[in-house]
Amino acid sequence: MTSVDEKKIHHSHNIWLRDHCRCPKCFHAITKQRLLNTFEIPPDIVPLHVEPKIDGLEVTWPDTVPHVSLYPWSWLQQNSYDPKLKSLETANEKVLWGSKIEKSPPTVTYEEVMHGDDRGLFKWLSNIDKFGFSFVTSVPSTPEATEKLTERIGFIRETQYGRFWDFTANMAKGDTAYTTLALGAHTDTTYFTDPCGLQLFHLLSHTDGSGGASLLVDGFYAASIVKELHPTAYSLLSKTLVPAHAAGEPSALFRPNPSSGYPVLGHDPLTGELKQVRWNNDDRSVMSHLESDRVEEWYNAIRIWNQCLTSSDSEFWLQLQPGTVVVMDNHRVLHGRSAFDGKRRMCGAYVGMDEYRSKLAVLTEKFAPDTILRATNDLPLVTANGRNIWNSAL
Ligand SMILES: [Zn+2]
Repeated sequence: MTSVDEKKIHHSHNIWLRDHCRCPKCFHAITKQRLLNTFEIPPDIVPLHVEPKIDGLEVTWPDTVPHVSLYPWSWLQQNSYDPKLKSLETANEKVLWGSKIEKSPPTVTYEEVMHGDDRGLFKWLSNIDKFGFSFVTSVPSTPEATEKLTERIGFIRETQYGRFWDFTANMAKGDTAYTTLALGAHTDTTYFTDPCGLQLFHLLSHTDGSGGASLLVDGFYAASIVKELHPTAYSLLSKTLVPAHAAGEPSALFRPNPSSGYPVLGHDPLTGELKQVRWNNDDRSVMSHLESDRVEEWYNAIRIWNQCLTSSDSEFWLQLQPGTVVVMDNHRVLHGRSAFDGKRRMCGAYVGMDEYRSKLAVLTEKFAPDTILRATNDLPLVTANGRNIWNSAL
């Protein structure tokens, strides 16, 4: 059937519309789960009556008692597939950055994040969404305060390194992170099927020595340069599977599933947008699956990638101080450090990508509702248990 909304015509299949009814009989307003049995809809269902109303399109379907559905206009437009319309609002825009970010890095204060009405937390997570990292300043230099700060986002993701880490360079775990060696820009846990989402670091003290500057690199920025200047290399980085492992501890042997791994650059299959950077050349396993006539091309592609990551235009070097926490999106921003001597005490933790994105979605719903929420929030029977049934995530 066809609906007209402010001069825009959308075509929807009857079965699609019937399946998406969100009346209380078809959709549980509290749990936000489908109640309707999709397989009881006659495949050739046709509405008895269709009527444009102020709030949306009202459709009456044949049933033992005729069934009335109302589809809000903003929801119909957002979800139109014929034609596929531009979303009413695009997701929070990413700001790609290079070394110049040092002039005004995204920053919030501990006070903002820990107190008040979650607006500070929203600002912090929005920074991470936009820039791939954010500082938090004026944090008490203790593991306890840092752990509480982390838990504002969501529960901590425990790994083989523990839950909340508080470590010095003592090789307590079989990983170079626990040495004083320099570490090139990399993302963590490339050997997981789902690499850790956020990583949070706090330098608690550094005594009797120097060095240990921190390095951040925007992987999305570096990828944008490769894409523009070396499209063939970009394509290889996007398609070639890279296996990885964590094997420094005898009690654990991690590899992603499937063990052939994932490409360095992961894209949204629907939109083609770059979504994930996975890169740690030190953890890479045997590239036994390369096609023989692609081997040199692939090595050339990672050489170009490495050049973009290590160019002075990309690198943001900073000296962390006790009191300043840095948190980064481990699916986007690579981190590293220079070698150091003396005694350096670091604490930190991981948070899963899904936990972080869930918290950001809840705060966005509250502080920056999209067009559909603004258009439908006042309709009857729409909000239950604090959430609108037309939320665009459902
Ligand atoms: Zn219904």
